[in-house]
Amino acid sequence: MKEITILSGKGGAGKTSVAAAIASVAKNAVFCDNDVDAADLHLIFNPEIKERYDFDSGTLAVIDPDVCTNCGICVEHCHFDAIHPNAIEQLEVNPFQCEGCRLCERVCPEGAIESVYNNNNHWFVSNTRFGTLVHAKMGPGEENSGKLVTEIRKKAKEIANQINADFIINDGPPGIGCSAIASITGTDAVLMVIEPTLSGLHDAKRLVELINTFNIPVFAVINKFDLNREITEKVKNYLDENSISLIGKIPFANEMVESVVNEKTIIEYAPDNKISKEFYSIWEKIKNN
Ligand code: SF4
Ligand code: SF4
Repeated sequence: MKEITILSGKGGAGKTSVAAAIASVAKNAVFCDNDVDAADLHLIFNPEIKERYDFDSGTLAVIDPDVCTNCGICVEHCHFDAIHPNAIEQLEVNPFQCEGCRLCERVCPEGAIESVYNNNNHWFVSNTRFGTLVHAKMGPGEENSGKLVTEIRKKAKEIANQINADFIINDGPPGIGCSAIASITGTDAVLMVIEPTLSGLHDAKRLVELINTFNIPVFAVINKFDLNREITEKVKNYLDENSISLIGKIPFANEMVESVVNEKTIIEYAPDNKISKEFYSIWEKIKNN
């Protein structure tokens, strides 16, 4: 069984459309949506949830206004500047800034601060028309997305072993943050989706630097390559210089957008489109390598 992670250095490169198209052509695979901060693979997969789990992302401090005397000791001690007065001058904790270190709870002379477990995150195992999908939903402003990615990948692997799957395909997050690192760790190969813009090339270079620290094979596809042929040439040169196989170039087509709007993959929506044929070719190259 091989595990492949699809990544892009930035959002908007078309990574999820590529992941969904690959899902249409890959056989005997388990899918895992690692983009836990903004999961959207489910929009195309239309999952039927079979199992649901909570994910604890740590603790958050909460001040009880009935006990707090507004002495300000907690403000002085908070290293994350997470405690501020609200509109009526009562101190309260900003959940988006609180790191859950619990220092304020220890220094409060009134016992007015409680640390509450933050389990506003959930993950799911679902049936889909492509096979099993493991996916997650993080609450707004929640932390520890890397840990959640590790958790859902573990489950995807367990299922893949149970059903003797040939592949696990991860739709990774954009960028090079901790959830991208958690998506690459222990995977067998990365498929990188690059859009032909200067920022797309810049972000792809940063992603390659990160992937290189893992010493695993990287393949690349250029999405909407015909929108800027000059930068596409630059991307190709960069890939050549870094011995990264360019295994597909996807032209721009309205059908790609229309397929997402219709909650379908491009293969389902426009099977005879040349892009659909390109995806069969991309998948063959991944499998053969
Ligand atoms: S240390 Fe305790 S009592 Fe003082 S402001 Fe903070 S929460 Fe209120
Ligand atoms: S738990 Fe830590 S980060 Fe959160 S408010 Fe208290 S001192 Fe600040």
